[in-house]
Amino acid sequence: MRLLTVFAAFLILCATSFAQAPSPASQGSMPALEHFNPEQADKSVDPCSDFFQYACNKWIKANPMPPDQTRSGTFDKLIVWNVAAVRNTLETAANGTSDRTPVEQKIGDYYASCMDEATINKLGIDPLMPMLDRIAKFHDKSQLPDLIASIHQMIRPADLNRIDAEYQGVLFGLYAWPDFDNARLNLAALDQSGMALPGREFYLNDDDKSKQIREQYLKHVAHMLELSGEPPAQAATDAQVVLSMETVLAHAAMDIIARRDPKNQNNKMSLQQVQALTPSFNWSRYFAAMHAPASPQYLVLAPDFFAGMEKLISTESIEHWRAYLRFSTLHSVAPFLSQPFVDEDFDFFHRTLLGAKQIQPRWRRCSVNADADLGEAVGQAYVAKYFPPENKKRMLEMVKAIETALGEDIDATSWMSAETKKQAHIKLAAQVDKIGYPDHWIDYSSLEIKREDFFSNVRRAAKFEIERRMAKFGKPVDRHEWGMTPPTVNAYEDPQTNTINFPAGILQPPFFDAAQIDAVNYGAIGMVIGHEITHGYDDQGRKFDADGNLRDWWTPADSANYDERDKCITDEYTQEVPEAGVKQDGKLSAGEDTADNGGVHLAMAALANTLKSQGKDLDTPAGGGLTELQNFFLSYGNIWCGDWRPEAARTAVMTQGHSLNRYRINNVVANMPEFAHAFGCHAGQPMVHANACRVW
Ligand SMILES: [Zn+2]
Repeated sequence: MRLLTVFAAFLILCATSFAQAPSPASQGSMPALEHFNPEQADKSVDPCSDFFQYACNKWIKANPMPPDQTRSGTFDKLIVWNVAAVRNTLETAANGTSDRTPVEQKIGDYYASCMDEATINKLGIDPLMPMLDRIAKFHDKSQLPDLIASIHQMIRPADLNRIDAEYQGVLFGLYAWPDFDNARLNLAALDQSGMALPGREFYLNDDDKSKQIREQYLKHVAHMLELSGEPPAQAATDAQVVLSMETVLAHAAMDIIARRDPKNQNNKMSLQQVQALTPSFNWSRYFAAMHAPASPQYLVLAPDFFAGMEKLISTESIEHWRAYLRFSTLHSVAPFLSQPFVDEDFDFFHRTLLGAKQIQPRWRRCSVNADADLGEAVGQAYVAKYFPPENKKRMLEMVKAIETALGEDIDATSWMSAETKKQAHIKLAAQVDKIGYPDHWIDYSSLEIKREDFFSNVRRAAKFEIERRMAKFGKPVDRHEWGMTPPTVNAYEDPQTNTINFPAGILQPPFFDAAQIDAVNYGAIGMVIGHEITHGYDDQGRKFDADGNLRDWWTPADSANYDERDKCITDEYTQEVPEAGVKQDGKLSAGEDTADNGGVHLAMAALANTLKSQGKDLDTPAGGGLTELQNFFLSYGNIWCGDWRPEAARTAVMTQGHSLNRYRINNVVANMPEFAHAFGCHAGQPMVHANACRVW
């Protein structure tokens, strides 16, 4: 799965995404879906004072956070529903008889092997011992490329279901990525990784909370090493080594703001140049051990990081490397081992970093794992049961209506020249809209899945996925491939393929609801569509052209006009977030905030066009004693009702590009005169910004 900072998704992507069910669904049953209800508004609150409270107070009071959740909201209810749907398809496949299809055999046996906790617990650390033995025997740094390759081949790459979603692999990440200058060609990309904490700031920040987290991390590393058989004193010493080596990598890593600029990542090198960057690591040996095909060039996304890696290789002792590799490998596979490893991993990465009180039930973790390892096999069964074709048709109509609205917005805007407008139209016309699921599924037939062998299933699935990615080196980019699985409650825009992508998982209530009026659907899924389309024209997306190439198609004056509008957004969202205990950096969230603001504008414009064709307008009375426009805004607020645990909020504000729910609602509406009009707000009230920002 592709996850770089140029990859603009709608929701946050982390383990919490699936950790949301209020109680375990009984077998076969489905939790309730959330439907928009205007009665949810808290009439005791003035919408012009705090629209988040007006829209969400009642919902939040009625939905206390369950102990295994770290974030709870209306869309999380849909995530719960989807995980239960996935579980149903998996159980059906697991309980099937001899007439199962090959896909049902794989997903059913995978799920059964994951649910077989007794066998997993009996095996303990045994499945990992061959690799740990190999690390223990490591005695010459020239062996490092072969050793790293064998570790990389057994670890699920870029596992989005873990909190450390940017964790691409032990030490560094390897994947296929389009050439920034020729987006139709895949290159081998080498990326920074190898730090288990969620971001480099966790190693480098000097505040008390950061120091406290590092102290707790040291204990966690030591506990994990003890569980793997190290004596306590040795484990404590090794934990210090691990933290120290990861801190060197953190210093060398590109910071999260710089990573948002694709120009900083566009460093193409020959294999000889990569070799010159890290003389102590033989890349030819590494790629040979990975069985990687040659790449025309190598995309080194963070060159300074590899210089830091060189320093670590040349200066750290063999003993230190053994400690680092032992822990990194344990960390990467802990959730797939026996209970003590699962519990220790949960205790730090979910309890300490995210504030979870309790681990998710095993069936949910196994459903999530099946989706991560066999996503397009699980997805086939899921869409057949839960995604009716009429949803796709209705969705495409809305996408077209919102694309039309952006075209009109480009024409109407006063700050772009005719020349730049023409280029923007070319880009918009070239965009590919992908709805629901892929036209062609990944063929898993060469991947062996056994009913009684969970760890090996995960290991083989990881190897399958790594090889599938490496096979793309030097090959054309497939614009129709998906970066999210069908049951995912999320959406994304990919500037290099110039596509917008809406998995079937998000095309359900409260986002998409065939029973609701247009105003409600445009306020919810319409805003999601507008959000993704806007990403193609945000501070990152605008740097890519219609073909997905990193090429500046803006006149200098228009570019300066854009930057001025962008600065309004970044200044506005550079704000204290008391519930997270940290300050938000508007430069980190600029793309998402621009997409939120643009998304609501475009959805509203498309709604106005739709109503006009029906002889109505935004002020026409609609359901619930509200006007069309009031329904629209209330529906928008409704999809962001929710709450975070403080630990999860802190981690999210530090590492994610998305603003927290409250700000996704209030900052957006306060920028919109149309909101003030809808609810009769006047200048000076909190939901009416004096300096209202507008990009799209
Ligand atoms: Zn987004």
